[in-house]
This record gives sequence, C-alpha cells and structure tokens, in this order.
Amino acid sequence: MSARIGLFGGTFDPVHNGHLSIAKSFIQSDLIDELWVLLTPYPPHKSSGFQTAYDIRLEMLKKAFWDQNNVSIKTIENELPKPSYSVQTIRYLKKHHPDNTYYYCMGEDSLSQFHSWKFYQEILQECELLVAQRPGETHKDVEKKILKRTHFVNHTPLDISSSQIRENIAAGKSIIVQVPEEVIKVIEKEQLYS
Ligand code: ATP
Repeated sequence: MSARIGLFGGTFDPVHNGHLSIAKSFIQSDLIDELWVLLTPYPPHKSSGFQTAYDIRLEMLKKAFWDQNNVSIKTIENELPKPSYSVQTIRYLKKHHPDNTYYYCMGEDSLSQFHSWKFYQEILQECELLVAQRPGETHKDVEKKILKRTHFVNHTPLDISSSQIRENIAAGKSIIVQVPEEVIKVIEKEQLYS
C-alpha cells in the first residue's frame, strides 16, 4: 500500500516542544499520512564536538513522541554508512518501500542552510520539501530552484532550540516549558548537559 511519508531528521539533543509542535504541523498539513522521525547519529552539517549518546537521545525521542498518532521513530540512519547524508537515507527508503512518496521535512532555519547540504540538488530530485516557519528565519534568500520544490506548512512558531536548552541547564535555569516532562526525567537521570 502506498503512503505519503514525511521524513523529519535531526540530532534531537535533546528533543523539545518545538520539535513536537512542528511534527504536529507537518501531520496536520494533510500533505503526509505519516511522519518518520529519523534520529541522526553523525549529522554532516553540525560541527559542534559534543553529542549525547545515540541510545539516550533515542530514549528521549521515544518518550517525547509516544502518544503522537501517525508518528514513528526510525533508527535507519544508525544502520547506514556514516556520516548520515539525507540523500542516502531517502534513496535507501525509496528502494525498500518503492510505493511510498517521500517529503523531507525541516524547520525554516534548515531551509536557509539547505543549499550548503551535501547533495542537496540530489535530495530535490528525490523528493519535495515540507518546511515549517521558525522565529527569526526568512526564506527570501533561498534559491528559486529550492523554493520550487518546497511546500510551507501552517505553523505557530515556538522559539525553542536544543542549544538554548543545553545552555539553560548548564546555567541552572528551568527548562520546564521547553521540554516534555518525561524527557526532563531522562535528562535528570543521565545528568545531561550540566
Ligand atoms: P540545535 O540548537 O542543537 O541546533 P535544534 O533545536 O535545531 O538543535 P535539531 O535536532 O537540530 O534541533 O533539529 C531538527 C529539525 O527540527 C530541524 O529541521 C530544525 O529546523 C527543526 N526545528 C528545531 N527546533 C525548531 C523550532 N523551534 N521550530 C521549528 N523547527 C525547529
């Protein structure tokens, strides 16, 4: 059976309410039937040295999304060769589930950087993009050939990022409004980011 699948990749270090909210907006767009959240082991475009262990990020992701309909967490990128180029993941999925249609989903900040992704033209040949608005970001400088393959989804932006959460924890500030309660429990259990 064919389905329209949104692929939502990230490092999720940690997953936060901004991710949950953007995921809901992708599903509500009615452009996709399911959202597959792809936990990336080694993103090629992030240079910061620090990264929480894959299994702990996975545990947080599962706890964050456990009650979301039509969302599944996928570890495919951990099984494919590293670094995790998105085009490799998309081609692998198309080969193994050829009846599905894929959309690559991202926040608007990622769209502004998309032209710097390795093989971005190949990604655009393989699938279209679904993009949700993010505060402080604009797409006025994004290349026309990218915009031609982009659908913008309605989204009420939330000004939250993983880096801001890591900084807040290190500074001893509360993250209660930014992160789901079950994820906070994992952060505390594993003593992350302090
Ligand atoms: P960091 O602060 O470490 O860069 P992040 O908060 O951007 O992390 P990622 O795991 O890198 O989180 O993001 C995965 C995807 O989620 C990306 O496509 C990113 O654009 C999107 N995203 C993250 N936070 C938001 C947000 N608040 N609103 C919209 N999109 C978001």
